[in-house]
Amino acid sequence: MFTDSHSHIFKKYFEDINSILENAKKNGITKIINNGTDLESNLEVIKLTKTYPGIIYPAVGFHPECLDSFKKEQLDVIEKNIDSIIAIGEIGLDYHYDGYNKEKQIDLFEAQLKLAEKFEKPVIVHTRDSLEDTIAILKKYPKVHGVVHCFTGSLETANIFIKLGYKLGFGGVTTFKNAKIKEVIKKIPENAIILETDAPYLSPEPLRGTVNEPANVRIIAEFIAKEKGISLEELSKITEKNISSIFDI
Ligand SMILES: [Zn+2]
Repeated sequence: MFTDSHSHIFKKYFEDINSILENAKKNGITKIINNGTDLESNLEVIKLTKTYPGIIYPAVGFHPECLDSFKKEQLDVIEKNIDSIIAIGEIGLDYHYDGYNKEKQIDLFEAQLKLAEKFEKPVIVHTRDSLEDTIAILKKYPKVHGVVHCFTGSLETANIFIKLGYKLGFGGVTTFKNAKIKEVIKKIPENAIILETDAPYLSPEPLRGTVNEPANVRIIAEFIAKEKGISLEELSKITEKNISSIFDI
């Protein structure tokens, strides 16, 4: 049994959500944390949680890339649903594409970290080309903890996040030919590791380039178990314990 700690299961990506969930279960993936990124997807997260209770778990948040359509009052969706959501996510910083607005991204990120602090909810953090600012901001909210999703950084960076109280989400990128991340997996403590797909993005090898789905957590699990030199059962025990230490699921 595994949890996909980071997915985007929405109708615009998956015509037949039922079959995606069936396939997940067949592969031993019994829980999926569904992440909103803007108002529309956040509302769908809430709706899908009601349609698929016990398998889809809701994380609601505003991703930095939603800033074009974002209005401050939209943050109400977090407060309004605070009792039913398990995390605030996907939130963070992304300086990858030209034209990003650093100040607006930081404002949005901090507004949501403040909500996480106020309501004692974990956060699911996205960081791309923005490591320094992400670390500096997370340090301002020492009571908040959660996950740094799609972790691909160095051992040194991993240890900084771990020290700040964050687990690291490993997904498809882990399986790409990348010796560095293998070393990180070998060296970080077991209690920092959780698994994710980021479906529909970032399919693991050998499915790279196809539409990713939660069932593929199994491929990532097999890869990590091999690197750690442990069985799938052991990895399941470890990662599920880590999941339940952050999320109330
Ligand atoms: Zn994501």
